Amino acid sequence: MDGDAPLFPYLDLRAQFAEIAVEIGSAVQRVMESQKFILGHEVSAFEEEFSSLVGCASAVACASGSDALLLSLMAIDIRPGDEVITTPFTFIATAGAVARLKARPVFVDINEETFNLDAQLLESAVTPRTRAIIPVHLFGLPADMDTVREVAARHDLAVVEDAAQAVGASYAGAAVGTLGKLGCFSFFPSKNLGGAGDGGLVTTNDFALAERVRILRTHGSRRKYYYEVLGMNSRLDALQAAILRVKLGHLPRWTRMRQLRAERYRRLFAEYGLTNHVRLPASPPGAVHVYNQFVIRSPERDDLRGFLKSRGIPTEIYYPLPLHLQPVFSYLDHRAGDFPKAERASREVLALPIYPELEEPQQVAAVQAIANYFAGRT
Ligand SMILES: *Cc1c(COP(=O)(O)O)cnc(C)c1O
Repeated sequence: MDGDAPLFPYLDLRAQFAEIAVEIGSAVQRVMESQKFILGHEVSAFEEEFSSLVGCASAVACASGSDALLLSLMAIDIRPGDEVITTPFTFIATAGAVARLKARPVFVDINEETFNLDAQLLESAVTPRTRAIIPVHLFGLPADMDTVREVAARHDLAVVEDAAQAVGASYAGAAVGTLGKLGCFSFFPSKNLGGAGDGGLVTTNDFALAERVRILRTHGSRRKYYYEVLGMNSRLDALQAAILRVKLGHLPRWTRMRQLRAERYRRLFAEYGLTNHVRLPASPPGAVHVYNQFVIRSPERDDLRGFLKSRGIPTEIYYPLPLHLQPVFSYLDHRAGDFPKAERASREVLALPIYPELEEPQQVAAVQAIANYFAGRT
């Protein structure tokens, strides 16, 4: 007997599928009948539909969000020894793409309110080797892009947005993915727009850069069997594109539903008198948050999480160890204490379930359990 069985899933993709099963079925059937699996009409149609949703000039689909980052850095010619500034509080792929090119990830600490890189620290991290900045719109909240762009312009650096968690988010009225030179998206199943497997996409308003990404994703060739540059094989499958086209049509509504559930959490936390016990996600003016995750924080995170698990409330931790302390980056010679705010966030963050299909009683159960934990404490 499992006394800890969750009362409801952390993320319910089966509920989402139930709603769109017929549409997905006919999209898959269409691709199977065509027997065209690599690029082709489905992929270019998806690229066009994605561009018009985001409001960018070009979109180039690829095999994953990680590859979107790698292709973007290759497109701006990041080389061994170059430095790229980013946050240590993100998924591995952000700094991984930099390191894969033998460039150096240079970390700056985060803003504790937003969990995004503290753009005020960028200036002091710039050296003559700095080539680019990768702001991450973590959990669906846009980074402080005014400051990022100011610093980038002053030092002639490229801005590559990691928008993997933030499709549909906007900053000062402009969609993420249009705020830098290139924008990187992921269609990993748990993202707000998730495929039936891996997928990714690069956005840009620069046609020449879009063309470079297109060439790089197909072995560095424009013309079959003639290679101009060293590229890779990183294409979005036609099957994924067809499925993502269906889901893209639902995305604006799903995003509103996520935002409504975030508002509902805020109301419930206030009603249960919990706002002095846990910190709720920031929502800075001008930034539209799309809540890929709803992340609260508490110094008692581990105990709280254990208690919630015993009450059947599923939670996750993004991320338990910041990148500068990961074994893979030991050669960067960082130690505990180098980025104290990122380190503290890693100890205190707790992600609660948030998705369009999440129901009010489930949210009430989650917040009630948190209230029970603190009632037993104080
Ligand atoms: C998911 C994610 C990626 C990488 O996406 P994949 O499609 O899984 O390769 C990159 N950066 C961040 C912040 C992510 O959350």
